[in-house]
Amino acid sequence: MKSKQDELSAAFRLLPGVDEVLRMARVGQLAARTGKEEVTGLVRRALDGLRHEISEGAIDATALAERLGTDELAERVEALFLADRKKGVLPAINATGVVLHTGLGRAPVHPEVAQRMARISAGYCVLEVERASGKRNRRDDRLSELLTRLTGCEAAIAVNNNAAAVFLCLNTFASGGESIVSRGELVEIGGSFRVPDVMTRAGVTLHEVGTTNRTRIADYRAAIHEHTGLLLKVHTSNFRVVGFTEEVEMSELAELGREVGVTSAFDLGSGLFELEGVQPLTMLGDETVVREAVASGLDLVTFSGDKLFGGPQAGLIVGKRAAIDALRKNPIYRAVRLDKATLCGLEGTLQLLIDGRGNELPTRRMLLATADELKPIAERLAERLDVLPGLRAEAVRDKSQPGSGSAPDVYLDTWVVRIQHQDLSPDALGRHLRMGEPIVFTRIAEDFVLCDPRTLLGKEADGLVEAFAALCAAQVPQP
Ligand SMILES: *Cc1c(COP(=O)(O)O)cnc(C)c1O
Repeated sequence: MKSKQDELSAAFRLLPGVDEVLRMARVGQLAARTGKEEVTGLVRRALDGLRHEISEGAIDATALAERLGTDELAERVEALFLADRKKGVLPAINATGVVLHTGLGRAPVHPEVAQRMARISAGYCVLEVERASGKRNRRDDRLSELLTRLTGCEAAIAVNNNAAAVFLCLNTFASGGESIVSRGELVEIGGSFRVPDVMTRAGVTLHEVGTTNRTRIADYRAAIHEHTGLLLKVHTSNFRVVGFTEEVEMSELAELGREVGVTSAFDLGSGLFELEGVQPLTMLGDETVVREAVASGLDLVTFSGDKLFGGPQAGLIVGKRAAIDALRKNPIYRAVRLDKATLCGLEGTLQLLIDGRGNELPTRRMLLATADELKPIAERLAERLDVLPGLRAEAVRDKSQPGSGSAPDVYLDTWVVRIQHQDLSPDALGRHLRMGEPIVFTRIAEDFVLCDPRTLLGKEADGLVEAFAALCAAQVPQP
């Protein structure tokens, strides 16, 4: 009787060497599509996989010999190659109904804006040079001009994201000193952005005032001393304090700042724009509009480019000229400044708003879609899905969420398609859709997968049906 160790050694000895696998015809073809080094790595991984199966006792020498007699190893290498190509940043269909979905890239930009961004990326552009004189200028001059027009600010500056915007404000005005913030506004946004942590890293000592539910301007005033560098207000984007509450008004904070000569700032989070000719996003309740925050007299107002503003990822800072100029002089600005494509995308988005085409911005359109408008889309989708083998689909009333912490207590009336597969659990169905082609993200609620037409763009309803059809065809055993 052979020992277990002997059996394992026998199986291991059967495994071909890397070079031997590389000489297989199918593996050779793969090397022509990518690089030799790449394929060598894949072969090593495929062999490691087999080695692992052997040591786990999943295959013995006999089974292995049988497998090695087929194309299986080459197929494994090919499968690893294809799986690798399906990683990274890829287009996906958002059927979750969450309009600003951080995992799925937040705001989709307007198609015309996307086109302009692609063109700028692919070539040279007028970025930091004045055309008439040929002299060097600032890359965000035009952006600052457009923001001034739309928000009433004196000047503006743009950085990589709103986290960087807040960091830059803190570091510029309060590094080595203190910043005063209400205890009710020490928020954490999406795990990695915590106001107290950002402060520490910006070299700022946090001076908390007030209580969780109530903070008054007198609390701020009492906390001011010679080392105070910034009076900061933070939008509690992803939670609400309700009941016996009191928060400091923007104008009170601005006034106090002016009185004592300390810079005042408001991290708005989502940048809401309401303009003439653009349908207001009333469903968001009393969400602060950027223009109002500027008008309150605050020195600095920060917000994201890819939340309610509906542009590419960026952090926008609008406010008083002296404060913006100080931000510009901080060497950290150089480390967080924007690239040409993003600048072009922000300018394009602002231009659409100025041209009275704000209603066309995808995020606004999706937020404004009513249940009545979405119902026929959900019904048609349900009909097309219900006929697929193994699938049951029906349109039902539901709620969608704006997302990205923009309004935690806001739910939008919608119609969704409620789907079940005869052999797959909702979790398994959701996973197949994420791993399939086209890539689809859905919502799961108890026993169902839900597809919300609110967040489907262009012809994505067709893509959604295609994804389900491919999945159903693969699930149903062929006769
Ligand atoms: C979202 C948010 C941030 C972070 O903005 P990013 O653009 O994601 O970096 C910071 N502060 C508030 C209040 C936010 O809502």
